[in-house]
Amino acid sequence: MQCGPTDTPDIDLEYLREKYRQEAEKRHRKEGFAQYIEMKGEYQEYFEFDPYSPPPPREPVSDEIDVVMLGGGFAGLNVAGRLKEAGVDNIRIIDRGGDFGGTWYWNRYPGVQCDVESYSYLPLLEEMEYMPKDRYSYGPEIFEYCQKIGRHFGLYEHALFGTLITSLRWDDDIKRWRVGTNQGDDIRARFVVMAPGPLNRPKLPGVPGIQDYKGHSFHTMRWDYDYTGGDWLNPVLDRLGDKRIGIIGTGATAIQCVPPLGKYAKHLTVFQRTPSYIDNRGNQPTDPEWARSLQPGWQNERMHNFHLGINDVYERDTVDLICDGWSEVNRNIQARREQDGWPELTMEQFMELREEEDAKAMERIRKRADDTVKDPETAEMLKPWYRFLCKRPCFNDDYLPTFNLPNVDLVDVSDARGIERITEIGIVANGVEHELDCIIYASGFESTTDLRRRYGIDTIEGRDGLSLYDHWSEGFRTLHGMSVHNFPNLLFTGWLQGGVSGSTTLMYDQQGRHIAYLVSEAMAREARTVEPSAEGEADWVKTIKENLLIDKQFWEGCTPGYNNNEGLEVERYTIFGEPYGPGYDAFDDLIREWRDEGGMAGMELGE
Ligand code: NDP
Repeated sequence: MQCGPTDTPDIDLEYLREKYRQEAEKRHRKEGFAQYIEMKGEYQEYFEFDPYSPPPPREPVSDEIDVVMLGGGFAGLNVAGRLKEAGVDNIRIIDRGGDFGGTWYWNRYPGVQCDVESYSYLPLLEEMEYMPKDRYSYGPEIFEYCQKIGRHFGLYEHALFGTLITSLRWDDDIKRWRVGTNQGDDIRARFVVMAPGPLNRPKLPGVPGIQDYKGHSFHTMRWDYDYTGGDWLNPVLDRLGDKRIGIIGTGATAIQCVPPLGKYAKHLTVFQRTPSYIDNRGNQPTDPEWARSLQPGWQNERMHNFHLGINDVYERDTVDLICDGWSEVNRNIQARREQDGWPELTMEQFMELREEEDAKAMERIRKRADDTVKDPETAEMLKPWYRFLCKRPCFNDDYLPTFNLPNVDLVDVSDARGIERITEIGIVANGVEHELDCIIYASGFESTTDLRRRYGIDTIEGRDGLSLYDHWSEGFRTLHGMSVHNFPNLLFTGWLQGGVSGSTTLMYDQQGRHIAYLVSEAMAREARTVEPSAEGEADWVKTIKENLLIDKQFWEGCTPGYNNNEGLEVERYTIFGEPYGPGYDAFDDLIREWRDEGGMAGMELGE
């Protein structure tokens, strides 16, 4: 059944355009990502600390491996599974965590949940014969599901947990990567697959005095249940009854952990720089009858449908299977065009229509704040003034009502572009010092910062000691976003120069298949190296540049954040890297045909 359009209020577009411009401008900081503290050096220990299930100490290993995977989250699991299917068995999955899961291993804060419906987000559901318990899964179930994938493909025996890769050097004499780790291992790998995920390294706000604070503090990615009480299966934070808590940040993480903090803390102060889009959640247990009715191939169709809803345009006959806030704008555009008899639209007309429906959807969200939050001043502060998808939309039934509790305060720090400083006893914001027993950093991740920061590996050296960071100093240079000239046998997942989908697990599935093909083909052809030729790489970069699909005007108009390079040089860096213009599906066809053709065009195979 087709789901109908969502009711949205009227808007004054001219007013909104100007208001959005002002709100973006007042938040711009010329230092961009440099405003954040990287968790290395004196902060490295904070990053390496594992409060959950650190593996016991072990002796260094010396190993010759066919494929090393950097990361055991959904990206690494996907590639590893496909490799095993292709008969590549001598693999190692190296992960800093004590288990598989990646972001779902580390993020155990109270309330952790996926904002994308589970039937589209959790990969491999049909293969795994698994049906999520709820429409929107909670963290513990997703983590367990990652473990299940690990068991399904027999990956545990290949895992090296609690291990951080610290250097990658190509050794041309042995035609292998020398993989250095923080455990002193000596691993010589034929192939290395980079699967770190976009949320692997937390970051901190670079405010003066952060080291002076004498109270307790932690990042949401290292939730300290010893301090708060409870655990992620039972988030009863019963040790906070006499504690004054401050939380910095109001992104997707904070939106989920603020309600339990508000419920249990003696006092909670939420420091907000940019409010999030907050729609209702309305989670439901999975209907067993619906689950039984699904036909083979249903998940791929659904993942694609989610992708269409956020990254593409609905045709007249597109059926919105997801039907939540993610697809609202496309759904409403479709309904309006239908009402008008589906007229032909120029690109310009379509973009105008899109802007209008976007503005209406955002107005509906702002109205929710008025309807839910009793204090009008607080409600006003909670309204997001930017276009849909400038920041990640959030869905939570309890976040806005939390601000009706007498023990919860919201402090808007947008005028000062953030909190001012941290002192021995608390946080200074807008000239006022807030005394706190504990500061929680919900300050996000190195998701689109400089690549060296994101990978957290200073040395990635290909042939003749060429640094990957130097090779990419003027922008990415790859073939299909997955391999790089002069970096033989080094393969990449993530958003670089490929077919972009906001549905990360769909993209990992695509990349897992392609990478498994590259590795298994190279091995079958008894090639010791596989890499793009200089021309192959240059041709792909040209293809990307000629078709580049980055909506500069859109990103420039957004409030700053990790999605748009903090509002600076937006055309060069967005969260999606440099997407292949014709889109995800066109890219999927392109690499499928490339594989079917069998000639490995643009690649060189070496003895
Ligand atoms: P974000 O980067 O989204 O949020 C960081 C927050 O810290 C922002 O609100 C930011 O404000 C604020 N901040 C940073 N510096 C300062 C400062 N100096 N003063 C005051 N505030 C500051 O991180 P999250 O961990 O919330 O989310 C990251 C991503 O993780 C999400 O976008 C999503 O992809 C994923 N995620 C997904 C979830 C899901 O599916 N439900 C749940 C949680 C996370 P500003 O916005 O102004 O920069």
